[in-house]
Parts: sequence; C-alpha cells; structure tokens
Amino acid sequence: MAIIRKSRSELEKMRRSGLLVYQILTELSKMVREGITTMDLEVEAERMIRDAGAKSAFKGYYSEAAGAEFPYVLCTSVNEVVVHGMPSAKRQLKSGDIVSIDTGLSLEGYYGDSAVTVPVGEIAQETQHLLDVTRQSLELAIAEARLGNRLFDISRSVEQHVLKNGFTVVREFVGHGIGTRLHEEPQVPNYVDRQQENPKLKEGMVLAIEPMVNQGRPETNVLSDKWTAVATDGKPSAHFEHVVAITAEGPWVLTRP
Ligand code: MG
Ligand code: MG
Repeated sequence: MAIIRKSRSELEKMRRSGLLVYQILTELSKMVREGITTMDLEVEAERMIRDAGAKSAFKGYYSEAAGAEFPYVLCTSVNEVVVHGMPSAKRQLKSGDIVSIDTGLSLEGYYGDSAVTVPVGEIAQETQHLLDVTRQSLELAIAEARLGNRLFDISRSVEQHVLKNGFTVVREFVGHGIGTRLHEEPQVPNYVDRQQENPKLKEGMVLAIEPMVNQGRPETNVLSDKWTAVATDGKPSAHFEHVVAITAEGPWVLTRP
C-alpha cells in the first residue's frame, strides 16, 4: 500500500483548500431552512468555488460504478440518503429533515473535502441524537489520528462509539487518504476491517475521516440514478467529515480554523 506523505509546505497548501471548504460549508449551513431547495445550496457553492479560483473535486468526477461523471459541486443527502445525493430544484427542505452537505475542491492542485449534516427546523429527538453521536464519533476518531497509532485506532473509535449508542456504521462507503488527488490510499473504514491492512500512522499522512452512521440497519442501496446511496430501511443517516494531517504536534484538522 502506497500512502503518500506530505511535506510541511504541501500541508500548508492543503490547509488553504481545507479552510475554503470550511467557509463554504459554514455559509451553506446558515442557508439551510424550511423552503429552500438543495439546488439553492448547489448554486451558492458553485459561485463560492468559482470566486475563490478553486476547482470542484466533485463536478466531473468519474465513477466506474456509475459509468458517468458526477454533475454537481455538492452532494446533498437528505434523511435516509447516506451519501452522494444530487442537488435538485424539486427537493424543497422541510422542518424535520436533516441534510448532509458534502463538498470537495482543489486549490493549487491540493484537495480539501468535508461534510456536515444540518437539521432543518425542529427535528425528532432520536434524529438529533444521531447527529450528536456521529459528530462525536468523528471527534473521537480525530483524537486517534496521531503518531504511535494505527489506522484501525481511528476506525475502532468510530465503530465503538456508534454501536454503544445503538446506531450502526455504514460499511459500503469509507473515508480515504487525500492530497493531490481527492481519493488516495489508504481507505479509512469506520469499522475495523480485518480484510484490509492496518498501517502505522506516520508524519505527513493526510486522511479524510468521514463517519456515515445509520439510525436503523447498516445496509445501503444505490438508486437507479447510479449515485444516490440510501439506507435500505428508509431510516435517517448522518455524515460528518474532516481532513486531518498526522503531525509531530498531533492531529491537525485542515478543514476548520
Ligand atoms: Mg471524502
Ligand atoms: Mg466528502
């Protein structure tokens, strides 16, 4: 397995793309309210990426599985949609929904990638708990992204926190290394995957850690559009993501200030 380690100056570049992603997600999160559509979020995100002189990592991304390029700069995944939901002018958000907003971009050839799940108006208590546990599992995972640990210390911290709270971890989609490409090695599963290698974490590795957590059963299917992944049982799913660099000083979250 070839995990590409980044120099300090490369990390500084990834920091700039990471902060741009953060700014975009912060703005979009503020827009989320009853009555707006997921396409409204897309239009604003595309404008912000263009104005910053960045390049979307998602729009034009070719997927072997879909046999097509993704047409948007955002994935907007509402309620039971786990990931890769497509923005739509017909998808008006209503109170009680949750929407995961995921975007990736490059600046000077270095990528950033982050996601948040945002509640719309009043949401069910159980759904709020799902958001809280998913966010907490990401924070616990970030704390494990340090020298002396191995990849599965990250995976295990997500899995244990999620299961302890009665939710389930999605297995078909995982986090990833990131750098001059959106997806680099290694895969970063949110569960301990004995089929996979468990490399030591080394200085300069950069990982996109992204727990995807289901309120009900863990299974997913992909809809006929070939992209939209949904929880098979139709229950809500949450997703948070940050890009984290392994440094001698500890985990450095590149996608937030
Ligand atoms: Mg990602
Ligand atoms: Mg992402």
